[in-house]
Amino acid sequence: MFKPPWSPVLEQVADDVWVVRGDVKNGMNVYLLRDGSGVTAFDAGTKAMVKPVRKAAEQLGGLRRVVLGHADADHRGIAPYMGVPVICHPDEVTAAESEEFRNYWDLSKIEVGYARRVYPFLLSRWDGGPVQISETITEGDELCGFRVYAFPGHAPGQIGLFRESDGLAIVSDTVYFVDSSRFKPIDHPSVPHECFNWDTQKAAESVRKLAALNPKKVAAGHAEPFEAPDLVQQLLKAADAVDGKGISTAT
Ligand SMILES: [Zn+2]
Repeated sequence: MFKPPWSPVLEQVADDVWVVRGDVKNGMNVYLLRDGSGVTAFDAGTKAMVKPVRKAAEQLGGLRRVVLGHADADHRGIAPYMGVPVICHPDEVTAAESEEFRNYWDLSKIEVGYARRVYPFLLSRWDGGPVQISETITEGDELCGFRVYAFPGHAPGQIGLFRESDGLAIVSDTVYFVDSSRFKPIDHPSVPHECFNWDTQKAAESVRKLAALNPKKVAAGHAEPFEAPDLVQQLLKAADAVDGKGISTAT
């Protein structure tokens, strides 16, 4: 049977954690976390992922709620369509409930002309639109066996999850494992591109904060979960690559 190149996939990441990878190059991740007899989604990917996430969640007992890692267009895509409560950090509520894209984005900073031109189209296609937030979640809260951490910088209310027992960190866009100017996976962590960041210095600080947790595996908003013996050093190197002007000098 013909299979489109980006047919969404459901993969197990760790005990009680799955990911639905979909949309462009299957580069958009929605994590499903065991939550009693059902699952909670962490991050909400793009609008095109409504069906595959619904199907995956049904296989795993049903979707109970959606928790946004942050509220950018490619992370709130399915949220308005799932018929379950949507939760985010207090500093993301306004963005999640807004029609507008972020006023701090500056696509002119994207180095590659093609990407610069195509992003407005992609962002509109990815976005699911405004979503009503029913509850908030903050650092120190517990979610499906994980501890919630605030990792502000890419977005003001960016959060991530960390599970001490196996060192798994699920961090949305706290770090990128993609070159967002070239739509290509990269083999090391990097601070998100400054054109999409609320505050790149703070984003670098948050990557240091993530490194201090000593994660064994980092599962981010884009690309596949990443592990390496020197993961912590690689995270610190990524943070150090942000210069005094808030621009990443990493290659
Ligand atoms: Zn993203």
